[in-house]
Amino acid sequence: MSLPKQELPVIIVGGGLGGLSTALALGQQGRPVRLLEQSDEIAPIGYGVQIGPNVMPVLARLGVEDAVRKSAYYPDSLHLLDAGSGETLFQIPLKGQAFEQRFPTPYISIHRVDLHEILLTACRRLANIDLNQATTVTGFSEEGDTVLVHAADGRVITGAALVAADGLRSRLRTQLHPSDTWRETGYSAHRTIVARDKAPQRMRNRRGVTMLTGDGFHVIYYPLRGGSEINIVGVFQVPTAAEPADKAYQDRIAHLIERAVPEVHDVVGVLNLSRRWPIADREPVRGWHRGRMTLLGDSAHATLQSLAQGAGMALEDAVTLGDLMAAHPGEPAAAFAEFERKRFLRTARVVLESRALWPVYHCAGIEAEVRNKQMQDRKAEDYYRCLEWLWTSAIERR
Ligand SMILES: Cc1cc2nc3c(=O)[nH]c(=O)nc-3n(C[C@H](O)[C@H](O)[C@H](O)COP(=O)(O)OP(=O)(O)OC[C@H]3O[C@@H](n4cnc5c(N)ncnc54)[C@H](O)[C@@H]3O)c2cc1C
Repeated sequence: MSLPKQELPVIIVGGGLGGLSTALALGQQGRPVRLLEQSDEIAPIGYGVQIGPNVMPVLARLGVEDAVRKSAYYPDSLHLLDAGSGETLFQIPLKGQAFEQRFPTPYISIHRVDLHEILLTACRRLANIDLNQATTVTGFSEEGDTVLVHAADGRVITGAALVAADGLRSRLRTQLHPSDTWRETGYSAHRTIVARDKAPQRMRNRRGVTMLTGDGFHVIYYPLRGGSEINIVGVFQVPTAAEPADKAYQDRIAHLIERAVPEVHDVVGVLNLSRRWPIADREPVRGWHRGRMTLLGDSAHATLQSLAQGAGMALEDAVTLGDLMAAHPGEPAAAFAEFERKRFLRTARVVLESRALWPVYHCAGIEAEVRNKQMQDRKAEDYYRCLEWLWTSAIERR
């Protein structure tokens, strides 16, 4: 027997930050929500994430601001250095009057496990959110006023609407745009968390987000969990065909950092080079929705990490979508069309500005010299002004 239409759940595919926050935003409205995650456990990749000041109002709207603030680390500054010379290119304060006047909410770093757990706990408190693991979605179809979600095990799950938060390599985006795929950069990231007291002294001394930029690579690290841990990411232009265990791969990384300052060697020395994440983004493409289905988060607008805003955009999406579904009761197609109208330009700007910064962070020679001069000529106030469009909340605080 099928349920009456109004009782059918909104189906969310993907239990990442985008899917979970959307489940919470919709679940808090009292509507039935069913989240389908392919992994055996709804759990994040266990590293840190930076969350810009634009995102705290989103977390407040989701009712998790206090919990997040308690788990967050509050970096002093964003500090960019030239990996070859060690000179500072910019150091933008993330605390103090000038920052707080412009951005009333903090810039934080947080362990993904902590953020995920906060969202998951909030979801579990709501009986109307049904969290399903080990369910791989292969596609969807529409039938009258319902959407049918097809799982790899043959099940067909019926919903009132479908939100595809299935990440960068989204299958459901491929169903909407068959010829569109992710755009590889030829760079791969390696990630590690080390206990602060096990980290090299130079790294322990830094209290902010520190990034060293070099020819074909960058490394970035920042404290987490009250400063007791340090999250480290190293991004290298490496042969895509080689595996991290291959000598050619390791030799390439050694070659890239050969002439870098000792701090880079400190960082790479504690980095786990055995697992990599190939770095890719998506072309901004309109047409996120079809009828009762929409994309959200990375599946709609995956970005490079240059502005550290992929997760931030997924969280902003969640609250925006929740508001629009509430404003269009029983009309998900109208809500989804409005969602794309509201979110497309901001997220496309993040994607394209992040892409434009990529060669800036990885250039050499005269290009690097000019970059250094340009960056050093700017004051913190100039950077605040450039980031204002992004770091100002796009969400109404209620
Ligand atoms: C090295 C690195 C550093 C980053 N740093 C930052 C940062 O500092 N700040 C920031 O804001 N962002 C950062 N990002 C980006 C951020 O991680 C992503 O933008 C964000 O996690 C996207 O969330 P999402 O929920 O849309 O997708 P995902 O987190 O990718 O979640 C997708 C989920 O869908 C599931 N799934 C996929 N396919 C299916 C299927 N067919 N059926 C069922 N389930 C499926 C997956 O298992 C996964 O759980 C970084 C990314 C990288 C790679």
